[in-house]
Amino acid sequence: MGYNVAIDGPAGAGKSTIAKLVAKEKGYIYVDTGAMYRGLAVHFLKNGIKPQETGKIIEACKKAQVSIGYENGAQQVYLNDENITTKLRTEETGNMASVASAVPAVRAKLLELQKTLAKEHDVIMDGRDIGTNILPNADVKIYLTASVETRARRRYDELLEKGETCSYEEIAKDIAERDYRDMHREIAPLRQAEDAHLVDSSDMTIDEVVRTIVALCR
Ligand code: C5P
Repeated sequence: MGYNVAIDGPAGAGKSTIAKLVAKEKGYIYVDTGAMYRGLAVHFLKNGIKPQETGKIIEACKKAQVSIGYENGAQQVYLNDENITTKLRTEETGNMASVASAVPAVRAKLLELQKTLAKEHDVIMDGRDIGTNILPNADVKIYLTASVETRARRRYDELLEKGETCSYEEIAKDIAERDYRDMHREIAPLRQAEDAHLVDSSDMTIDEVVRTIVALCR
């Protein structure tokens, strides 16, 4: 069994930034499970499926194989052996992932991959249901959050930096909607595990958050 750190929280809380830095410092493998859901979302979109077409999503799942690898320490996502990592981080993919992740067949598809990685390696795994569902016996559990305004501003700045045109208001609305869907779905909703440490990063620097989490790890 590897040493397992679970880090859950809403969209834009900074989970991936923080988890990557903790992974580097502690020598863990960083596993971004949101990227796996986004990988399946790319498959659904490629097949012309709309987020509300649940039947088609379930059917399309059967022909999708998501796997991950690492290049220079950075997680790569493969969809049926094609590296699709650069296609994951658009708003369209994120919204499709958020809706499709409420479908049990979609979650079932990724569950074993996530559990196996944690069994075989020391990992810091980020997602929505890692501490509550995927790794209930994780050595350390973190619930990382921040206000909707802070998270929307961060996402907005990130997209602008990439040269994408976007409106702050739309991003804030998307984030609030995604929070609602993630927290209210029937299967594996986003919530803080009872034994998770709550970290609110709204008024913390990245380094302060990293130091807080590193201090909790072995
Ligand atoms: O974290 P990220 O924004 O990349 O995740 C995309 C979507 O995938 C989330 O909005 C969430 O609905 C879903 N997800 C999930 N469970 C996880 C990770 C992500 O349901 N463990």
